[in-house]
Amino acid sequence: MLELENAVERILAQVLPAKPEIIPLAEAQGRILAETIVSPVDLPGFDNSAMDGYAVRAANLSAANTRTPASARLVGRVAAGDIFDGEVRDGECVRVFTGSAMPPGADAVVIQEDTQPHPEKPELVSFLDAPKPWENVRFRGEDVKRGAIIVRAGEEITAGRIGLLGAVGITNVQAGRRPVVGLLATGSELIEGGAQPAPGKIFESNRLMLAALAARAGAIPRIFPLVPDTAADTRRALETAFAECDLVVSSGGVSVGEMDFVKTAFADLGGEMDFWKVAIRPGRPFVFGQWQAKFLFGLPGNPVSAFVTFLLLVRPALRRWQGAAEIGLPTRAAVLADTLTNPGGRRHFMRVITDVRGQTHSSGANGSHLLGSLARANGLVDVPAGQTIPAGATVTVLQWERPA
Ligand code: AMP
Ligand code: MG
Repeated sequence: MLELENAVERILAQVLPAKPEIIPLAEAQGRILAETIVSPVDLPGFDNSAMDGYAVRAANLSAANTRTPASARLVGRVAAGDIFDGEVRDGECVRVFTGSAMPPGADAVVIQEDTQPHPEKPELVSFLDAPKPWENVRFRGEDVKRGAIIVRAGEEITAGRIGLLGAVGITNVQAGRRPVVGLLATGSELIEGGAQPAPGKIFESNRLMLAALAARAGAIPRIFPLVPDTAADTRRALETAFAECDLVVSSGGVSVGEMDFVKTAFADLGGEMDFWKVAIRPGRPFVFGQWQAKFLFGLPGNPVSAFVTFLLLVRPALRRWQGAAEIGLPTRAAVLADTLTNPGGRRHFMRVITDVRGQTHSSGANGSHLLGSLARANGLVDVPAGQTIPAGATVTVLQWERPA
């Protein structure tokens, strides 16, 4: 049986970043950048005023204060988007606004609140404060220099990065494609939500749950019809899904029962199984294999096992496929409020609820069929085989939802 880390390593050795595509910045939120971007311009592009006020030569007003104001002659006005077509000389000032290009010759801006109209001469402005040289001036290139790296390949395109890219004039970026992930659910006991309940049948829930996780990992989920437990149905379903998707994620049918057809159907199709079984709980039976240039992730059917193996083994592959540098789940250091005990022989990823203060409780019983405690949880704690982690210990939580 493979250790989790070895299993992930084997998956990542095969799932490589796909060819990127060019997309408008307007649609880039959450995508993975496939190119390192160098700023084509200085940002700000020109020296400009940080405030509404008057551009002046600081040395002219060094004696100004409230009791003995100094004055300067108003020679112009730079509205947003304009420039001052001249030069500020000694004894002169120019009306400016936040973002106005600095008029040549001026070396400071006095905020409007520190000025007054001159009592008798409307062409003069009175200054009640002495500016320091370059006060309230924003300098060309102080934010970003032309030629500086602003975002790197493999980074996620966040709202802040969209702001920065837009500010330097970039409208399109190369981003990793979003993989289309086919979702199959096997099991003759499964019925669609909304169908008439019948004895022995259960509502299928893994496809929608995994679709939600896939979408959050940046993939495009595609849901396929339920697959009854026969060799022929399983094979046909895999074939259809592979034809239409980049990767296929199935749930159920990977254990040792005689009704578990995923492995044999995959082999029948010509798929090459890379490994089966990972030494974790929940989720020991887990199949990874390759069919042509595509991949099968065969998850166990128990909902919590499917959820956890998706997060630990499928999600990294989806991130890698998109070219992400960071492929693991976010982690958080947290203090255990409950003792977590794993009497078993395999490491156990236990469901926990971490609150905003970092206090972490068990979310309840840990059976792999128990959706109630999964729904309450927002993270997992990796508890080694045969070990107890006492209340009060600091642990690393793999966080898939925000702290509660
Ligand atoms: P299997 O891995 O096929 O042996 O299924 C293990 C358990 O998970 C059984 O109790 C199944 O009924 C249940 N199960 C399998 N697939 C699903 C599904 N898609 N939705 C809900 N429960 C499922
Ligand atoms: Mg089954």
